[in-house]
Amino acid sequence: MALIVAKFGGTSVADIERIERAAAKVVQEVERGHKVVVVVSAMSGVTNQLVEHCSAISKMHDLREYDVVVSSGEQATAGLMAMALQKAGVQARSWLGWQIPIRTSDMHGKARVTGVETEELHKRLDSGEVVVVPGFQGVTEAGRIATLGRGGSDTTAVALAAALEAERCDIYTDVDGVYTADPRVVEQAQKIPKVSYEEMIELASLGTKVLQIRSVEIAMNKEVPVQVLSSFEDEIGSDLPGTLVTREDDIMEKQTVSGVAYSRDDAKITVLDVPDKPGLAAKIFKPLAEAAINIDMIVQNVSSDTKTTDVTFTVSRNESARALEVIGNLEEFQEAGVLTADNVAKISVVGIGMVSYHGVASKMFETLAEKGINIQVISTSEIKISVLVDEEYTELAVRALHEAFGLEEQEAA
Ligand code: ADP
Ligand code: ASP
Ligand code: MG
Repeated sequence: MALIVAKFGGTSVADIERIERAAAKVVQEVERGHKVVVVVSAMSGVTNQLVEHCSAISKMHDLREYDVVVSSGEQATAGLMAMALQKAGVQARSWLGWQIPIRTSDMHGKARVTGVETEELHKRLDSGEVVVVPGFQGVTEAGRIATLGRGGSDTTAVALAAALEAERCDIYTDVDGVYTADPRVVEQAQKIPKVSYEEMIELASLGTKVLQIRSVEIAMNKEVPVQVLSSFEDEIGSDLPGTLVTREDDIMEKQTVSGVAYSRDDAKITVLDVPDKPGLAAKIFKPLAEAAINIDMIVQNVSSDTKTTDVTFTVSRNESARALEVIGNLEEFQEAGVLTADNVAKISVVGIGMVSYHGVASKMFETLAEKGINIQVISTSEIKISVLVDEEYTELAVRALHEAFGLEEQEAA
């Protein structure tokens, strides 16, 4: 008998029929004698709609109230899932984030899980009840509902699996695993049977939305085995060939490049004619950090006259209005011009084998050049290279790089 956390994403609970299909999987696990915690997302499209409602009132809406609104989608699915399980003859009860409680930081809109109370959950599971939890939400120290950032139900699932010391965390979604590139963009993309936590963190942070980055970080820290599985097959977790996210040591063959990722969630901001003297970069980035705005890529151009320079950086597209407001309020930059562009995409190649192999960057740049794609910003780490390009070239760039690195014919590890 094992304790399993099973998470169903938006498309897997998109309507009542799908909720009942998902419930049938849970019933199969229960029949095998397992204790099951089910984590559910909002029904497909619901969160987007709720986010739109908030933005329609104001782009600068109160984030505490945003959390009240957007967390409601998962609440509805949790109740429906509990009903579907009861109808299938299984004891089930829903538990909202604040009822468990799942404690979070107070960074509304993108809070982090800080703790999970497990005593009551264990009691319920021991009594034979299936515990149903809405993903994406928790409660702050001040007692307010907080959400965990888009895709945050994955993090709820892994955080619960870690706290409950579950045997595994099954993430059921609309693809049957993690692929070498988004299978919706690259037809020849290959499923990766096993991927290391480190690579998955990079892939997730670079736009591979199949798992939220925080969920993989928690899985790595607590060594939770995570499987990405299709919810459209009839089989259940232990029988399905999905992708296992695991420790690097457990993977025999390490690919130089294991995947290509893209993200259209970034915005580029350029502050023009910044005086070229010590401390100016800090004057831009410190207030942004204090406003909890994450900066991703940064370039500071060398000034030709040594007097002024331009500083370009990227932020999340949904935070660009806030970032501009912060910069606009800085005394030093009242005179500076600020340019913003939303029509950018970040394209990345990721691979743990890159650490010991040179030439990945030049191959990437050459490939893009051959397609006439201009690179606006570059950033690298030990196991990834990212470039910012015009958004209209997203698919072209992803497909060209997938081919250039031979990913369609690779026998993955
Ligand atoms: P869910 O609603 O189940 O949480 P998501 O939409 O968050 O599902 O994540 C699944 C989607 O991730 C897939 O439909 C797929 O288009 C996308 N995706 C992007 N890159 C990859 C990749 N490398 N491998 C698998 N899926 C990917
Ligand atoms: N419903 C939330 C979202 O769409 C959380 C999730 O599905 O993981 O971002
Ligand atoms: Mg998701």
